[in-house]
Amino acid sequence: MAQRPTGVKKTDESARAIRFRQKHLLAIADLDRFEAENLLDRAEKFAPLLDERVKKLDTLRGRTLINLFFENSTRTQSSFELAGKRMGADVVNMSVKSSSVAKGETLIDTAATLNAMRPDLLVVRHGSSGAAELLSRKVDCAVINAGDGKHEHPTQALLDAFTIRSRLGGVEGLIIAICGDVLHSRVARSNVALLTLLGAQVRLIGPPTLMPAGAEKWGAKVFHDMRAGLKDADVVMMLRVQRERMTGGFFPSAREYFWFYGLDEEKLRHAKPGALVMHPGPMNRGVEIDSTVADNASVSLIETQVRMGVAVRMAVLEALAESGANEERS
Ligand code: ASP
Repeated sequence: MAQRPTGVKKTDESARAIRFRQKHLLAIADLDRFEAENLLDRAEKFAPLLDERVKKLDTLRGRTLINLFFENSTRTQSSFELAGKRMGADVVNMSVKSSSVAKGETLIDTAATLNAMRPDLLVVRHGSSGAAELLSRKVDCAVINAGDGKHEHPTQALLDAFTIRSRLGGVEGLIIAICGDVLHSRVARSNVALLTLLGAQVRLIGPPTLMPAGAEKWGAKVFHDMRAGLKDADVVMMLRVQRERMTGGFFPSAREYFWFYGLDEEKLRHAKPGALVMHPGPMNRGVEIDSTVADNASVSLIETQVRMGVAVRMAVLEALAESGANEERS
């Protein structure tokens, strides 16, 4: 197992004391380190609950959470649903295909309709960057961005950081390599922002065609050679090749992509011995990751990520519900 570098602080006591002041969770870029650590500390409180027989709390009793997903989702939607139910909230899943949106209602009209139902928390996933932020300006409740186009997916980054912290004791000082289709990935954007905020050295690895212009200005080092980029990495985070967002030919074939950028046991040997592997899912096996790595429980954190996702989302719901209540009082 990769060792936690010396001098890594698990958490800063002052972060615990600080109240989460954001009304919404739209982007990691809006958070400072204390707020980010505050959310991770809260998640730590909820993680043990996942193993209890009775998992229910009443923190959000009487509150309503609406899950509004314009893009398909398996993990994120069910994770928010479980998190909301475990906190005691009433959870409504809006199926967008069967809603008025399919009949041509605009995002703004949808926002007005939902607002009239007086929800307390609105979780939104949309194919356009900025959609969650736009909604947040049109509704009275707290909005959580569950992925907006290629922009951000803040709770994914929080659950990734929480998974790393739970396994290695901290994030500061670690070398974390994020590999693959960076261009189309909101997961990469949110993770670079959060992991650098928490003091990690982040590397981005991918073919030039899948690396956004100016990526080196995000605070991460860019590599096009995977073996060079993996050298000494404590954590290797693989990204899905997002064919649904590709308009042209970004690489010749899946086979060739795997040859250069697919994570298999041979390439993983270039990282630090015992390096851990992550993937936000869903995986394209044999394209960006080989099953021998993905299913190897001694290196793969992929299932842990899914588990930790519920605890992190409970933390986010709690923090936003509290900050909403404080706002009402002030
Ligand atoms: N599930 C993640 C997202 O919604 C990653 C992916 O789809 O590749 O961005």
